[in-house]
Amino acid sequence: MKAVIAGGGIGGLTAAICLVKAGWEVTVFEQAPEISEIGAGIQISPNGVKILEQLGVMPELENTLFEPEAIELRIGASGREVFYLPLKGVAEKRWGARYIQIHRADLMNGLLAVLNQLQAGVVKTGKTVVGYVKTQQGVQVNLLDGERVEVDLLVGADGVRSNIRSQMLGPEQPRFTGNVAWRSVVPIEKLNGHVPPPTGCIWAGAGRHAVTTRIRGGSMVNFVGIVEQNDWREESWKLEGSKEDALRDFGDWNPVLRIIIQESDVLYRWALFDRVPLEKWSDGPVILLGDAAHPMLPSLAQGAVQSIEDAYVLAQELGKVDDIAQACDNYFAERIRRTSRIQKGAAANVSMFHRRNIVSQLLTYGPMNLASRLAPRFLHRRNDWLFGKEFN
Ligand SMILES: Cc1cc2nc3c(=O)[nH]c(=O)nc-3n(C[C@H](O)[C@H](O)[C@H](O)COP(=O)(O)OP(=O)(O)OC[C@H]3O[C@@H](n4cnc5c(N)ncnc54)[C@H](O)[C@@H]3O)c2cc1C
Repeated sequence: MKAVIAGGGIGGLTAAICLVKAGWEVTVFEQAPEISEIGAGIQISPNGVKILEQLGVMPELENTLFEPEAIELRIGASGREVFYLPLKGVAEKRWGARYIQIHRADLMNGLLAVLNQLQAGVVKTGKTVVGYVKTQQGVQVNLLDGERVEVDLLVGADGVRSNIRSQMLGPEQPRFTGNVAWRSVVPIEKLNGHVPPPTGCIWAGAGRHAVTTRIRGGSMVNFVGIVEQNDWREESWKLEGSKEDALRDFGDWNPVLRIIIQESDVLYRWALFDRVPLEKWSDGPVILLGDAAHPMLPSLAQGAVQSIEDAYVLAQELGKVDDIAQACDNYFAERIRRTSRIQKGAAANVSMFHRRNIVSQLLTYGPMNLASRLAPRFLHRRNDWLFGKEFN
């Protein structure tokens, strides 16, 4: 059986590994001239790490990953702790795998290394998929350069502005969420002792929040700052912002954040988009996964993890029945409730982190603080449905 995957991001490469392992002949068409990722970190929770372990990717990541002590929420200005959810030593026992932070490029290199070990030459770069035509035998995939490829299955892993999604469901653009993100990466030795904690640390405040994590074995700090702002909708991972603007957003917060911004060589800035859950992800043997199917705000750190889950479940469903269209329907039925809940949860987290006045902050963060101190297991239990999902 032959499959084309449109898009060589985290979702597309994971899908390629899963399908090649299941015996499919796979081609990944990636529009960029080479497979690459932006210079930023990403968190992969235990539900994603479990799959990366099964696929044999984790050994490729061991040298560069960072295992945070906890996820914590702090008040952005004072740095006072709201809650602390221990992870190290807990995640593996409770949810079956570690919680990790890693440079995106290191994750992509790990996925590519495993894919190349399984089968060389799967990924074709500089190839843009523009659309498809369903045929009696399967599906014809159309490329920008005029190439046509006949396969049994087309996977649209082509991101938030997916061409495959547009053809399947219409040209509606993704929804601007009213939030703009800053990002930068700084070596720890540049921070003059003002180093953020070795955790996934969320810094919350009125209309904005920041997240600090570690990458490259803990030697670098990754900073993401998310600010409510309605008048800026540029969406490019490579657009630089000014240090002055970033300091206007976070300069009066805890010095840890101010110094990260001051010591950043480059600060990138881009607008955040999502979609409401789609009514379907498939059209016969054409199926969506990852951000093409369910783009979400980054505030649950699940977008990439869900694309990894999608890839694994899709391959499983394809292995269960002979009819590809039926398998695609079954995959949608298996995934839609979970990914919709996560999309909603990510949006809810943003408003929870952005509480504007002292009363709503107290009403939200007070009970969290109590629970964290008096009933820490309650916080772990609240994450069981997300991190504890089993994949057999
Ligand atoms: C600030 C921020 C922080 C985040 N942090 C986390 C986190 O900690 N944990 C987490 O799990 N997620 C996180 N995410 C979300 C995560 O980055 C995305 O959900 C994930 O990258 C989606 O992967 P994907 O493979 O579906 O899509 P993409 O990464 O968008 O990949 C799509 C690929 O398809 C290619 N492509 C597009 N169109 C075509 C075409 N027509 N033909 C061929 N190729 C095409 C693109 O070039 C790209 O390579 C974060 C997101 C943001 C914005």
